[in-house]
Amino acid sequence: MIVMKFGGTSVESAEAITRVVSIVAERLSRRPVVVVSAMGKTTNRLLQIADEAARGNRQHALELTHDLELFHVREARHLVCADDQAGIEALIREHFKDIEDLVRGLSVLGELTPRSVDAISAYGERLSSLIVTQAFRFHHITAEHVDSRELIVTDRRHTQAAPILDLTYSRIRQRIPPLVARGAVVVMGGFIAATEDGVTTTLGRGGSDFSASIIGAGIPAEEIQIWTDVDGMLTCDPRICDNGHRVRTI
Ligand code: ASP
Ligand code: MG
Repeated sequence: MIVMKFGGTSVESAEAITRVVSIVAERLSRRPVVVVSAMGKTTNRLLQIADEAARGNRQHALELTHDLELFHVREARHLVCADDQAGIEALIREHFKDIEDLVRGLSVLGELTPRSVDAISAYGERLSSLIVTQAFRFHHITAEHVDSRELIVTDRRHTQAAPILDLTYSRIRQRIPPLVARGAVVVMGGFIAATEDGVTTTLGRGGSDFSASIIGAGIPAEEIQIWTDVDGMLTCDPRICDNGHRVRTI
């Protein structure tokens, strides 16, 4: 078994998700478990929505929610066959109805707690993992979606939660290998988790790599691969120094 993690850019559109499907398809013999981030800039958008709502800008928050919903529906549509289109759209809409409820709640309360931040930001990976699962099926690859919140158990430090490893590993070991043994690609959202009593938490920004590591350690995997959408490795960090060049061989 291997874990293959794909970041936000790798799943930012139907086209990108289709590339992910073909990369995974080439490695089915290694029995991959796929971990995905939220699509593109979705996490930032969700945090902006939460912020606007809590400031009382309810209408603006609902408009941003609507835009994000359209984005998900539009991309997902290209990843299912005509018969399944209504199903995936309904699933996405259901999730966005819940986000709208959260927006209304936050705008009444006028306060954003770390717990609410997690509740809202978790929707990014909840949605991307469902959409990516459908994309595998569309390409005739057996895929099973597993909600990471059922397996990764954390403490209550919302937005920066730490996994309770023994509990988490035992849940992962119980759940994932049997699905993989049946020939399914297991798809899970990174970043998201839950407390022992089922309250949604997140592992901190950029936490999907951490999720992949936890899942890989829990299975246990032969290898954990962190895929990212760049052309190669540069000789220096382009944010610090912009005259680096691509390394030909390492
Ligand atoms: N989607 C989350 C974030 O943007 C987690 C991740 O991408 O690793 O921080
Ligand atoms: Mg990311």
